[in-house]
Amino acid sequence: MSSTSLRAAYGNTVIETLYPMIIDGKKIRTGRQIDVINPATGVVFASVARADEVVLDAAVAAAQRAFPRWSAMPLPERAALMHKLADSLQEHADEFARLIVMEQGKPLAEARKEAPTGIGLLRYMADNVDYAPVVLKSDGDTKIVEHRRPLGVVAAITPWNVPIGLLIIKLAPALFAGNTVVAKPAATTPLSTCLLGAIWNEILPPGVFNVICDDNDLGDALSSHPGIKKIGFTGSTATGMKVMASAAGTLKRLTLELGGNDPALVLDDVDPIETARRVFTAAMGNAGQVCLAAKRIFVPASMYDVFCNELARLADATIVGDGLDPATTMGPIQNAVQYQKALEYLDDARDSGTIIAGGVPVPGPGYFIRPTIVRDIPDSARLVREEQFCPVLPVLSYDDLDDAIKRANATDYGLGATVWGRNLGRAFDVAMRIEAGTVWINEHMVFDPHVTARGAKLSGFGGELGPEGFNSYTQGYVVYQTSSRS
Ligand code: NAD
Repeated sequence: MSSTSLRAAYGNTVIETLYPMIIDGKKIRTGRQIDVINPATGVVFASVARADEVVLDAAVAAAQRAFPRWSAMPLPERAALMHKLADSLQEHADEFARLIVMEQGKPLAEARKEAPTGIGLLRYMADNVDYAPVVLKSDGDTKIVEHRRPLGVVAAITPWNVPIGLLIIKLAPALFAGNTVVAKPAATTPLSTCLLGAIWNEILPPGVFNVICDDNDLGDALSSHPGIKKIGFTGSTATGMKVMASAAGTLKRLTLELGGNDPALVLDDVDPIETARRVFTAAMGNAGQVCLAAKRIFVPASMYDVFCNELARLADATIVGDGLDPATTMGPIQNAVQYQKALEYLDDARDSGTIIAGGVPVPGPGYFIRPTIVRDIPDSARLVREEQFCPVLPVLSYDDLDDAIKRANATDYGLGATVWGRNLGRAFDVAMRIEAGTVWINEHMVFDPHVTARGAKLSGFGGELGPEGFNSYTQGYVVYQTSSRS
């Protein structure tokens, strides 16, 4: 099937009408395709070639063929290539940002952060991580050394909320460590991944980085594939459980970055207006479609009214619209399925709590709802118990801090949390009692490449970034050696 391209009405971004997959360095178009909808218009604006199990096998075979030479390449050469990949991302940053807005919906200013996150990580890997053998013990005659080797073919399975950022956080350590990759994006946001595949395959040897696309139907075949040695997965807890089950037969290495229902604990010594502003940002970025968004806000009864009113004021001031409009501060819900879930949470908010801002879908095309603040809602409501993943925010009052911590921990999730307090010692004590992989005090979603981010409880395991995250794309081998006594 031939591909044509047209210059879209959006800036200078060239929109391919049919995006190809990339296997063995070649652009692959099959007889089947998936339509991609712009969530701001509800209209199909491009399509992508769709894989089946034969195409999946071909991608894995290509990655297997590329593995021996890629893994044997000296690390400094791979480091130089990581910088070239970063350069190419930099060169195409605007194209990526606009394409992400069109397929994902977030405002351009938010979309512009995805490529730089990847660029920073690629350069960090190249300049700081060496995977050199580590001498664990050197004692008289005995030396114990740990070596690291790549695993083989890695599958990177990504969700639709941060299509490039969450892909590169897997690709950077996987490729740099010497693995080859088959990436599979979410069915509703495949285009930026295909674009990355096309651009990076001009730099990388064929077969090192392959991209296949599905309609949410190849996950089991990928996770159970005997040619794949590790899955780097980001997505919902329900799907993460399926990945684990499918991967069991081949005992694949897994990194599972899953869902969250992160509490924000506001302590009684803060300025409620300033803190409400910061909590609003922590909750409403990407229209609430962030795994680590603040999703349940616990506020002392003494400042509950003031806090809720400020959140409501901020919600009312939000400009909801097409992410390519520079005035927009909140984009649409990413897809029709998630939009239906958001409508259900609005119904629940109406039935169980008091809506003080938003509460309505925006009429017209696209999947828009206004940011919604819900107060006086019980912890038993669906909106509080479940991961809403949309801009409908429950605000819960508390009298007793110990009780608030207990309520914050009363969830199967354990991804992240925030604590907001002026007395740092007290805020730290609270943070230490929260059951979450990452707790931020007086800030939110700050990451450092040295530091592993991981979920607790049903939010997953394995971790990304930091030594644990990087090493998870390698196998450790330990050699004990001592001088011969024979
Ligand atoms: P999802 O679980 O529906 O899909 C994620 C990916 O898994 C997609 O590529 C999908 O096609 C694929 N998939 C579907 N069925 C599969 C199967 N049986 N086996 C393997 N893969 C399969 O998630 P989503 O709706 O795209 O994303 C939203 C979810 O992701 C939320 O729960 C959010 O919290 C979570 N998330 C977590 C993190 C994190 O770092 N912990 C980051 C972003 C998003």
